[in-house]
Amino acid sequence: MRLKKLVAFVSVITIGIGAVALAKDWRSGIAWTEPKVVTPADTLGNPPSDAVVLFDGKDTSEWDNDSWKVVDGSLVVGKRDIRTKKKFGSVQLHIEFAVPVNDRGGQGAGNSGVYFGSNYEVQILDSHAEKDTKGNNKKVTYFDGQCGSIYKQRAPEVNACKKGGEWQTYDIVFNRPKLQIAEKNGKKVVEKVIRPAYLTVFHNGVLIINHHELEGSTSYDNAPHYDVHEELLPILLQDHGAPVKFRNIWIREIQDDNTKPKQEREPYFN
Ligand code: MG
Repeated sequence: MRLKKLVAFVSVITIGIGAVALAKDWRSGIAWTEPKVVTPADTLGNPPSDAVVLFDGKDTSEWDNDSWKVVDGSLVVGKRDIRTKKKFGSVQLHIEFAVPVNDRGGQGAGNSGVYFGSNYEVQILDSHAEKDTKGNNKKVTYFDGQCGSIYKQRAPEVNACKKGGEWQTYDIVFNRPKLQIAEKNGKKVVEKVIRPAYLTVFHNGVLIINHHELEGSTSYDNAPHYDVHEELLPILLQDHGAPVKFRNIWIREIQDDNTKPKQEREPYFN
């Protein structure tokens, strides 16, 4: 009986090994082009070889800016929002920021924001769970308005905030929307959302927003809805009255959609 079991076991193993040996290498037949070589930075967070550097600690020439100043290698919020001169579609954006140390709570605590166009905001705020300098709990704001939220549309999955005064990072993937624009009564309107926008956000290396579908522009005083805008949008940094600091800002344009190259031939075994 035991011998029979052993024979059966050995047979199964032999057939298994044979099947692996006979397995053929399946190929899709899709004519992918060779992925371009991009040299990553030696230090993570630094720009890879194909990035457009938007701020390197000195040069602000990529921005339309008349009041934000460079202080000790940081770009400090001044009067009015600033926008990049260049416009972008779908992008990967790296940005570092520090909110000021302060005793304020709610939306007044170190408020700024990273926007795609004037439309889609990833909030910057002092949302670190800490006491103020007098030992009182800071006033908490609404969760879909705290740091790392897509403003009034999506709270972050977790709170990965550092303290006021400490440097923090956002790595954001923005997939632009595709809007069908029509003219009605002499006014441009969004006739159809062909494809919504999506945002993915890593905060201090932690995934806090995972490919979230936007319902439209992020508005303070309105429910989200898609507004007419150009296909390509500048990056906007918000002036909300707090001296938030920025450094090491770079951006990569990414494939606008995930369409594959054409099927060159039927799938085959190589
Ligand atoms: Mg803001």
